[in-house]
Amino acid sequence: MIGRMEPRPDRILDLATPLRYLQGIGPARAEKLGAEGLATIEDLLLHLPFRYEDRSCFLPITALLPGVRGTVRGRVLSAALRRTRQRRLTIFEALVEDDSGSVRVLFYNQPYLRTLFTTGREVILYGETTIARRGRSLVLQSPQFEVLGDDDEAIHTGRIVPIYPRLPGFSSRAIRRIMHRALHLLPAVLPDPLPAGVAARRSFPPRRQALCEVHFPPPDTAPEAMLRRRAPAQHRLIFEEFFFLQLGFALARREVDAASSGRAALHVDDAVRARLRAVLPFRLTGAQKKALGEIAADLMSGRPMNRLLQGDVGCGKTMVALLAALLAVENGHQAAFMAPTEILAEQHHRSFRRLLAGRGYQVGLLTSGVRGPARRQLLNGLRSGDIPFVVGTHALGEEGVRFRSLRLAIIDEQHRFGVAQRARVRAKGDRCDVLVMTATPIPRSLALTLYGDLDLSVIDELPPGRKPVRTVMRGDEARSGVYHFLRARVAEGRQVYVVYPVIEESERGDLRAAAAMAERLRGVFPAISIGLLHGRLKAEERDEVMGRFLAGAMPILVSTTVIEVGIDVPNATVMVIEQAERFGLSQLHQLRGRVGRGEHESYCILMAGAEISDEGRRRLEVMCRTSDGFEIARRDLEMRGPGHFFGTRQSGIPDLRLGDVLRDHDILEDARREAFAAAALQRSGHRDALLQHLTRRWSGRLGMIEIG
Ligand code: ADP
Ligand code: MG
Repeated sequence: MIGRMEPRPDRILDLATPLRYLQGIGPARAEKLGAEGLATIEDLLLHLPFRYEDRSCFLPITALLPGVRGTVRGRVLSAALRRTRQRRLTIFEALVEDDSGSVRVLFYNQPYLRTLFTTGREVILYGETTIARRGRSLVLQSPQFEVLGDDDEAIHTGRIVPIYPRLPGFSSRAIRRIMHRALHLLPAVLPDPLPAGVAARRSFPPRRQALCEVHFPPPDTAPEAMLRRRAPAQHRLIFEEFFFLQLGFALARREVDAASSGRAALHVDDAVRARLRAVLPFRLTGAQKKALGEIAADLMSGRPMNRLLQGDVGCGKTMVALLAALLAVENGHQAAFMAPTEILAEQHHRSFRRLLAGRGYQVGLLTSGVRGPARRQLLNGLRSGDIPFVVGTHALGEEGVRFRSLRLAIIDEQHRFGVAQRARVRAKGDRCDVLVMTATPIPRSLALTLYGDLDLSVIDELPPGRKPVRTVMRGDEARSGVYHFLRARVAEGRQVYVVYPVIEESERGDLRAAAAMAERLRGVFPAISIGLLHGRLKAEERDEVMGRFLAGAMPILVSTTVIEVGIDVPNATVMVIEQAERFGLSQLHQLRGRVGRGEHESYCILMAGAEISDEGRRRLEVMCRTSDGFEIARRDLEMRGPGHFFGTRQSGIPDLRLGDVLRDHDILEDARREAFAAAALQRSGHRDALLQHLTRRWSGRLGMIEIG
């Protein structure tokens, strides 16, 4: 009885047909669906069930048990509509019989059922049986039902039934019916958008069959495989989605590569190696060496580098980047290092200058705070090439900044920058190599989804001797104990950060709260110097505060999240985070990364507000349990989903409909391999077909890939 959904010859629809042409969806409903991103039959069919219910096994009616769900199939013996006296309900009651016996079926306020449940009709019912109030008979109340027509197929019961995420204006029965109709109207064979052999090598079912089966699984489907999204039909559709996303990346990447052909490779000989080694104040970790090796290999090939370097907070990305910059400089070119804030740019500038002192390299600094003659001198130095290495903020991308020969652009904490800001810096060089770094470590599969046009290096090891930061959660009642603890650490000569959340929209109010906190702490610790740092301070004020904290002259720094990334003060060993539940996990991890950078035992105290939610509490518990940034990112993803992962700054996260970067990472890797292979083949006829499909699937959903 579960048919094969043969196409109906009378009206065949294309996958690209707009939804309003589907019977049952008028213009108004089509518009509503359009607002959900569903415009075509294909969009509709990719709105997949989020679970399935097995309603396939028919029980004999006499086997129905109270309180248990089950499916029965029988004939309508009799049916009647009645009205209750007290409550003015209409009750439709039918008696349904099979070979074993009969059961009463009740529906409330659905008088129209009279015309469906006519005597002699065959019906399928799915629901939970209860014992009638009077008498001892069993009753099925408001079951899911299907009235079988002559050539009808059961779609709501009597099979593995799809349960859909809501769509506006549709009941779940209506979605099911419309899916069923759309599938029926598809042509018998759908063109396979995947390159030849790709589907066969994986034993994927043909496209049409896959679409039919994900909505209406055949009777022999293993429910467990469906739940894991590994039934062949699901596998195919998830693969397709990842394939075309990765194809977009692959083609974008090819274009960049092609535009850069003919560029000279960098040379690295023993003399260069020795000069780099002389700069190092410590031995690189194995992971740092490996990442540097990958970067150097890129620079020494003719092919331009577009590489993402990721690693947990404190793993030492900066040193790797510095060495890469020196490779470019040693070859007579220039390198630029872009940081997201002035504070960070200044800090990197200071430490690079220290490391490179006496080695004949000039290091410039360019932020919007650098003005007047200093700025003119710097710009001249960049233009003439006298300044081979410059650190700065997005000011590096401003008009008027010119390089003699910018070869390598390094972008630190890249998720803090917009795509345009990154592109502007890259454009300062002629076919520039690009190294982007991110301290929000993310699972490889998410990195490939977000930054699929980049190669990936990972530093998965911390420098030796790091002790994990001891992390605790405390409520307001423990505040005096916390202050006591701070006093003791300060007495030992250590320093403390106290961070206040500043959420952009309510910035003023939050700033006031941070300032009030500083005042309060000054009252608690009258003998201790306490600074206040936030994004609205003038550059001089900020430098003054930061300078004193760096020099160790200021034991406590109250701050907003301006210190979130990169700040490196090894003597600071305590991080107190106020209203910690207002931060996302990744942000908490970044903040905690400000301590535990030196030889002393370090602490992170998460102050929880009185109105902390369950989810907030769970987040803080994750922080207390682990210090592994990748693990924390994974939990963050699970809790919030990729869309919210980076907060508001990150745009361009592709909205995956079927695939899940965590659950389906293996399919993603597989699809990526095939996509890059397909892009390399470049047989033009096939390439056009791929491009067409790619554009249809992803245009509008994926701003960051420009398909040309
Ligand atoms: P991040 O990857 O978070 O940017 P940094 O580059 O700021 O980390 O490095 C964190 C700290 O570790 C710095 O103080 C740096 O000097 C130090 N560091 C980096 N690599 C090593 C190493 N191989 N051995 C010892 N210390 C290191
Ligand atoms: Mg860093």
